[in-house]
This record gives sequence, structure tokens and C-alpha cells, in this order.
Amino acid sequence: MDIALQERLHLALTAQRRAFDAERMPSEAVRRDRLQRLLGMTRQHSEALAAAMAQDFGHRARQESLLADLFTVESAARHALKRLRRWMKPRRVETPLHFLPGRNVLMRQPLGVVGIVAPWNYPYYLAMAPAVAALAAGNRVLIKPSELTPATSALMARLVGECFAPEEMQVITGDAEVGKAFTQLPFDHLFFTGSTPVGRIVAQAAAKNLVPVTLELGGKSPAIVDRSADLALTASRLAFGKLFNAGQTCVAPDYLLVPRELAEPLTERLLAEMRRMYPRIAGNPDYTAIISPRHHARLQGLVDDAAQRGARVLKSHVDHPDDRRMVPTLLLDVPADAIVMQEEIFGPLLPVVPYDQLDDALAQVNRGDRPLALYWFGQDGAMRDRVMRETHAGGVTVNDCLWHLGQEEQPFGGVGASGMGAYHGEWGFRTFSKEKPLFIQSRFAGTRLFQPPYGATFEKL
Ligand code: NAD
Repeated sequence: MDIALQERLHLALTAQRRAFDAERMPSEAVRRDRLQRLLGMTRQHSEALAAAMAQDFGHRARQESLLADLFTVESAARHALKRLRRWMKPRRVETPLHFLPGRNVLMRQPLGVVGIVAPWNYPYYLAMAPAVAALAAGNRVLIKPSELTPATSALMARLVGECFAPEEMQVITGDAEVGKAFTQLPFDHLFFTGSTPVGRIVAQAAAKNLVPVTLELGGKSPAIVDRSADLALTASRLAFGKLFNAGQTCVAPDYLLVPRELAEPLTERLLAEMRRMYPRIAGNPDYTAIISPRHHARLQGLVDDAAQRGARVLKSHVDHPDDRRMVPTLLLDVPADAIVMQEEIFGPLLPVVPYDQLDDALAQVNRGDRPLALYWFGQDGAMRDRVMRETHAGGVTVNDCLWHLGQEEQPFGGVGASGMGAYHGEWGFRTFSKEKPLFIQSRFAGTRLFQPPYGATFEKL
């Protein structure tokens, strides 16, 4: 391992820890100021950040950058600013009668120095939304963004350098090797967003130092269509959820489970909706490209593998884009052993899998790892409740896609192989705080009774 790199990382961590030690419980005003600076940085440089993301993706729909990377960070920061005082307040906790007149208080204390590792798919949001929570909770922050978005990462490093002292918040750019060294640092908390295989490595690295981790990972998120669903609405919302950011979304619907008799009509409607939203693919400013030639080739490989195994390949458009924009593709009659049914897709491909009985669909979902998201479309409330009871997922949107991710009042995080821990709003504040219980004893407490010599004291309990 690169000694100079390790040295540089340790120095950054040590400087932040020293600064934290000098101010272990930053006041509300200090935290507000940091959040305001993050908010100001985001607002002031939104166009430059969107341009950097466009450069990194080859093409990134500007509105997608504005909505999913910039507005999201702004609204997380505003939400935190509005509620900061309440979140910081120590909580009164019920005290059992036999402990009175002592009292229970729960205080929320910053952890110290927090490490954040971010992926490339929403490079600004997934670096800065956890940073909002960490700063609100009074921590110092080191961020390691993805090497696949070099322009955005360099701009983030520069902007954070301009708006924050290095011992407050700092961005450290670099590839997987830097990520490896970064995740071996003895942080007070490590927050990782990325793939499940890398999440396993990161959890092991953190375990060596007993660093607590939050893992925001991926997986195959199913969309289940019920017989009671409104097909037109379902098709429109599924097409949006699948093609936003060209399917490069951790909570994108990965595959579709649909009653056998609805598979053909829904497929037709999906293709029509995709054409309505994107009249053309080549040169369409609203349609985002695939992040790299390697990722594009992997997705094409998934289609070829499924086709070789007998799947029907239905493309929404006949365009031949000459960049990395990929024509949306539905896959029918896909055998279960096709790679597209094994790996997280992370692109504009959607296998349509028919089912006869709901039991079959639930069995298919429950055979796999627990997904990050699950979508259910239908009007039958009893059916919906049954699916919610009998499946596991990090989060759910009913009758639409993706929107549960935008809820600051709800926890966001995976379960099982899709992650552990959560953030957003107060959940993030709590992730980056030690909730420290205090029991404040009264001078009138009768605890002398419990002191030796014991005699028969405990016999009476
Ligand atoms: P990735 O796991 O390849 O990389 C994520 C980050 O980890 C990058 O910064 C990378 O440099 C770093 N890294 C790579 N190897 C490392 C190692 N050995 N040790 C330490 N760090 C290392 O993920 P990606 O391709 O950037 O992102 C796509 C994945 O992220 C998908 O699986 C997606 O579902 C998931 N994701 C999850 C969420 C969520 O909120 N749960 C959000 C976005 C993306």
C-alpha cells in the first residue's frame, strides 16, 4: 500500500480529530453556519455542478442533475436547519417509579470524525446528503467520492475547500485504492454508499478498528403489478422510474413481476410510454448516457446473454445513438439463470416476468437477497397489505417508483444484503450521534439500602 497516501489520509483525520477534541459539542449556531455554507455552496454552484456531471456521464439530463443531485441536497439542508434545535435537545425519558426522584435523560452527542464514501450515480447527492446529517449532528467530515466522476469530484473538492476549513470538511479524491486506504482509517463512523460486493470489503476493513458502519448498498428491486392495477398509470410510472438517470439508480425497479395475462398489454404500454417520454434516444437532451464504455458493454452483455438463452428482446426505439445513450430494452421469456436475473441491472433494461399466483411472485422475491426497494402497483388494499407483510425491502413506494427516497421524515436504508443503518432527516442525525443515556440520581434516593452489608436485602426483591 502507498505509504504517502496513508500518511496523507492519517494527517487529514488527525487534524479533524484534534479540531473536534477542541470543540466536542458544537453549538447550534456553529452547526447552522456549516449547514448554511453547504446550502450556499450548492445553490451558488448548481450550474457548474450540473455541467461537471454532464461531462462525467458523457451526457446527463440537466433537469435530472438539478432535481436528483442539487435540489435533494438543498432540501435536506433546509430540513435540517429547520429542525436542528429540536434534534439537538436532550430528551426526557420516562423514569420508573422505583427510580424516582432520580431522572432519565437521553443526550445526543456528536461522534467525532465521520468518513463518507460515495458512488458515481448521483455523485453530489450521495456525498452531500450524508454530509448534511453528519454536520448537523456536530461531526467533522471526510468525503471520498467516486473515481468514475472525476470532474464532479474535482469540483466538489475545490468548492468544499473554498467553503470549509479542512478540519471541518474535506474531499479526498481517488480511485478504489484510495477508497481502500480511506476505509481502513479509524473513523468514529463510516458511511458507505455503493455496491454490495464492495460493501462487504468495507465492512471488514471497518471491523478491524471496530468502526461502526452504515452501508447503503444495492440489489435487485422488484416491481410487483397486481391484477387490480391501473395499467396506463402503472406503465407511465414504471417507465419513469426505470429510465430516470437511464436506470442508473440504486432504487430503480430492477425487474417486473406481472400477472401472466397482463404481461403483453403492459409491455406494449411500457414501450409506448417510453416513446412518449423520449421521442428519440439519439441526441435527446432529457436522456442520460451510461457512465462509461465498460458499464455500457456490461449492459449490452446482459442483453446478449439473455437473448442467447432464448429471451425476447424488445427495444423501445429503433435509434442507433452514437454515444453511450442506451436504447431502453424490455426482456421477455427470460430464463431464471440468465445473468440479468442474477445481478443488479443498473441500466435501462427491464425483464418482464409473468406470474400466475401471487404466491409464485412472492416466492421469487423471497428467494433472492432482500432488496433495497420494492414497488407494488394495484388498488386492492388487502392484497397490498399481504405483499407488505410477506416481503422484505429497504423501502417501498406503492403505485409509483422512487419517491420514498425523497422522504426526509422517513428512514432511508437497506436490509440484509441491500445495507444496514439508515439516514435522511432525523434518522441521519441519529446515525451520526451517540445517543447517550444519563441517569441523574437524586440526593434523596434510597440506594443506601442496596449497599453492603447485604444481610437479607435482596431476598425481598
Ligand atoms: P462501488 O461499490 O463500485 O463504489 C463505491 C465507492 O467505493 C467508490 O467511491 C469507489 O471508489 C469505492 N471503492 C471501490 N472499491 C473499494 C474498496 N475495495 N474499498 C473501499 N472503497 C472502494 O459502487 P458504484 O459502482 O460507484 O455504485 C453503484 C452501486 O451503488 C450500485 O450497486 C447501487 O445500487 C449502489 N448504490 C446504492 C445507493 C443507496 O443509497 N443504497 C445509492 C446509490 C448507489
